[in-house]
Amino acid sequence: MATMESLIGLVNRIQRACTSLGDYGGDQQAFSSLWDALPSVAVVGGQSSGKSSVLESIVGRDFLPRGSGIVTRRPLVLQLQHTEEGQEEYAEFGHLPKKRFTDYFVNLTLIDLPGLTKVAVEGQPDSVVEDIENMVRSYVEKPNCIILAISPANQDIATSDAIKLSRDVDPSGERTFGVLTKLDLMDKGTNALEVLEGRSYRLQLPWVGIVNRSQADINKQVDMMAARRNEREYFATSPDYSHLASRMGSEYLAKLLSGHLESVIRARIPSITSLINKSIDELESELDHLGRPIAVDAGAQLYTILELCRAFDKIFKEHLDGGRPGGDRIYGVFDNQLPAALKKLPFDRHLSLQNVKRIVSEADGYQPHLIAPEQGYRRLIEGSLNYFRGPAEATVDAVHFVLKELVRKSIGECQELRRFPSLQSTIAAATNEALERFRAEGKKTTIRLVDMEASYLTVEFFRRLPQEIERAANPGGNPREKPRDDPRENPRNSSAAEAVTIDRYGDGHFRRIGSNVSSYVNMVSENLKNTIPKAVVHCQVKEAKQNLLSYFYTQIGKREGKQLGDLLDEDPTLMEKRVQMAKRLELYKKARDEVDSVSWAR
Ligand code: GDP
Ligand code: MG
Repeated sequence: MATMESLIGLVNRIQRACTSLGDYGGDQQAFSSLWDALPSVAVVGGQSSGKSSVLESIVGRDFLPRGSGIVTRRPLVLQLQHTEEGQEEYAEFGHLPKKRFTDYFVNLTLIDLPGLTKVAVEGQPDSVVEDIENMVRSYVEKPNCIILAISPANQDIATSDAIKLSRDVDPSGERTFGVLTKLDLMDKGTNALEVLEGRSYRLQLPWVGIVNRSQADINKQVDMMAARRNEREYFATSPDYSHLASRMGSEYLAKLLSGHLESVIRARIPSITSLINKSIDELESELDHLGRPIAVDAGAQLYTILELCRAFDKIFKEHLDGGRPGGDRIYGVFDNQLPAALKKLPFDRHLSLQNVKRIVSEADGYQPHLIAPEQGYRRLIEGSLNYFRGPAEATVDAVHFVLKELVRKSIGECQELRRFPSLQSTIAAATNEALERFRAEGKKTTIRLVDMEASYLTVEFFRRLPQEIERAANPGGNPREKPRDDPRENPRNSSAAEAVTIDRYGDGHFRRIGSNVSSYVNMVSENLKNTIPKAVVHCQVKEAKQNLLSYFYTQIGKREGKQLGDLLDEDPTLMEKRVQMAKRLELYKKARDEVDSVSWAR
């Protein structure tokens, strides 16, 4: 059978757990409401009915102010604490500062309430009667409050303030003990059996008769031990009550109260257990997230660092692969930025009539070209293709910045890394270095693509040119034997031979060259629109996905234990948080063991 002691210990530990949880977590509210739900004991009754005396008697110590008139002017809330082994138990009260009481029977929240009154006496405001009642009511109406309803036996039970109030707040009587004091002061020839045997006023819990010390006893400083002895003797020898002697007196009341408290606490155990278990689960997973304490040996540290890097890398990959946002911005670069940049290239200016004329003439030198300005074409095309370097590099840079941003984001999102600021910045530096390398490779490759376009022109394109001109010139068929420039440019000329001669130096001729170059350049632009993204993905995105930390991994393996430890140098606030959470976890686990031992100890 669980002792009262162990139950109270449990309550206290749970309460201590609640208080020590302090500023942490959402469970605090739940716990403090549980705490509220743990019972307290309050004495209610009329003035001088013997409330303070009863309370003292239960506890077995003299410490409450007693006497006639309002002696207890305000509620005295007594927190009786069962303390750790080796330490003395003690209690402190508002009205006796600094004085500690030790060695008493039960530890609980006991509330000595002021007596209920009927009239305001001299010197009291008229509202005093109501004020006291409201205040007392505010304590006893709480469902966790066990009421000791004190009625003096030398007054008619029908006039009992205690019964009146407790019936109000506890109509079913499930938490009210009827306590009848001053049995020794009843009129000779009368007794309280009607009340004590539950016939006058029925309660669910039993009535208990009490004989406290009289004022004379108090004046004579009769101590608690003697008072209890006297009380026992009174019941044992009383002709009216001796048959009830085993169920009377303050010791019996204390025992009843203990049993009741035990059942109340026991009934709470399942909900306490589930609350504790829930909190333990939450704490465990939060601690997992926060990370467990770090190992001290270099091997374990290296393992931890690699694990952390992988955790980061996983998040980074999720960003790229679409599990997390951001990777789509790379597609945005390919789908919007690159085409827009290509479109904006100043080919109009480069292939203006004037420029074409100039470049073709310069390429011809002293001897103008005869049929097609081969050199002129090449120079015009090379000059145009040079412009593609800009968008190629800009695409590489844009993707580089997206990747850099995703790295930054991923580091921030990596819960496991949060506790290691040094490792965070080391990873940031290592990834930046890697991304720079990928960027350089990306530039080299895309520029090479552009250069490749310039180094060998697509012959097919030029081969097709004259025939297309033919077709354009003679839409109805009937092709001429000799290819020539479009006669639409020179409607004045009737002879083909003459047209060629004159054309070669006319604006139409150069305009045609410009437009041919322009359509070639457009074709290249279409190619690059496809091949630049391929190169960028190959050199930067795919590399970032596969090898972002590869170089770092080869470097980290060479580090000494001390350097590894430095990387795992934690953020002090997180360290503190983990320590706090570990403490809480410890508390909960202890509380759970406690609860288990109590609930199995029947
Ligand atoms: P409270 O005002 O309800 O707290 O009552 P107290 O405990 O202060 O008691 C008021 C007076 O009644 C004190 O002088 C007590 O000694 C006396 N008293 C209380 N209970 C008994 C009792 O059972 N028998 C006798 N003879 N006197 C009692
Ligand atoms: Mg009192």
